[in-house]
Amino acid sequence: MVITRFAPSPTGKLHIGGARTALFNFLYSKNQNGKFLLRIEDTDKKRSEKKFENQIISSLRWLGINFDGQEIYQSKNIDEHINIAKELLKRKKAYKCYCTPEELELERNETKKKGINYIYSGKCRNIKDEKNLPFVIRLKVEKNKKITLYDGVQGDVEIETNTIEDFILLRSDGSPTYNLSASVDDKLIKVSHVIRGDDHKINAVKQIILFRFMDWKVPKYFHIPLIHSESGKKLSKRENASTTDDYKKIGILPIALRNYLLRLGWSYKDKEIFNNEESIKFFNLKNIGKSPSKLDFERIKSLNEYYIKSLNEKELIENFLLYVNEFKQSLKIDTIEKISKNINILKNKAKTLSDIYDNSSFIFKYDESLILKSNLINTKNKVYLIDFLNELSKINDYCDTKITEVSELVLKKNNIKFKDLGQPLRMILTGSLKAPSIKDIIKILGLNETILRLKRHI
Ligand code: GLU
Ligand code: ZN
Repeated sequence: MVITRFAPSPTGKLHIGGARTALFNFLYSKNQNGKFLLRIEDTDKKRSEKKFENQIISSLRWLGINFDGQEIYQSKNIDEHINIAKELLKRKKAYKCYCTPEELELERNETKKKGINYIYSGKCRNIKDEKNLPFVIRLKVEKNKKITLYDGVQGDVEIETNTIEDFILLRSDGSPTYNLSASVDDKLIKVSHVIRGDDHKINAVKQIILFRFMDWKVPKYFHIPLIHSESGKKLSKRENASTTDDYKKIGILPIALRNYLLRLGWSYKDKEIFNNEESIKFFNLKNIGKSPSKLDFERIKSLNEYYIKSLNEKELIENFLLYVNEFKQSLKIDTIEKISKNINILKNKAKTLSDIYDNSSFIFKYDESLILKSNLINTKNKVYLIDFLNELSKINDYCDTKITEVSELVLKKNNIKFKDLGQPLRMILTGSLKAPSIKDIIKILGLNETILRLKRHI
């Protein structure tokens, strides 16, 4: 059975690179009717935080990336990691290294002088007698061999074992290192396919060596090229649009971000838009690209605009309200009703949920000071505004054609163009010039509120 896993360290928020890794693992397992597991790599107690763990899990949920069963905590398996280190000692595939930090520093400086890359010399490899000194346990990487990493994305990569350090399995305080814990856990949960970022390629080689020493079946590896920022550099965690939260905050829909991440470094014919079922149906590992992909913020926004346009009303409203609750001032019930009823007008030209909020703001955040500041209302146009108000007051119910009749009447009477009336009218009714059409504004505000706002300013 195909078993994949996503193994984040809860030391920060979910990065979009991580989200893509999780998505690929999830889609592949579902495509193969397998399992997708979540393993929280929380052995670094100093840097791991519960709040990040929660954030990662809720971001995955938000994106519809659902893992099977309960999340697995790496820290709960530490005893088993230690057992395996001891087993490797027993098999003479690992050894105790008594080097002090000062000795290692010396080694490092020596090699630096020679201009070679430093790896630990292995000088404790052949110590026969136990010493009563602090030690770390290192893996005894075979010398003068070639190891092939069968990477499903990059093809076979051949590596000389002499370039691989006798890496530490257990630190001097007895705690296991990442490469030991990850290998043991991957074996424990029977991972069949390890799909993760390119930056773990060297770790894969180390993990393969350990797997072989333990006579375990080595999983298949797939290393996805990293995501680069728009400027072409490796995307850093400090970049401002680097976590899934950064996108959520500006009102990107989860379905849009998910679709964007799917196509970032993976393709299927010329298909651009995938719904959730299609993404599972068409996903495969062989179409993962070999070169780094570049983040394209405009593309994310235009995908988001596409989804805002094509999502059904109910879903859009749900997404919008969740967004407002989390990131904006809360709205009154009647405002929510007005927005919901008119969402198809208010979503016009919106690229993000935040744009919908801004488009709607004239309903709940009517800033009258802007009307004065705009200098748009003068004695001349007050005349037609009063005419408009008088005619409007004669109407009982809102109706498109009646509003058209009223404005035509006013235009004719004063011999003016629509803009002469429309501009000051829009300003008075919304406190802004960027708003829906006059008819839509009146429809959304309702006749009473429209008349109220007009009366206050003329
Ligand atoms: N905790 C590691 C990370 O977040 C996991 C790497 C792996 O997938 O093995 O980079
Ligand atoms: Zn040593």
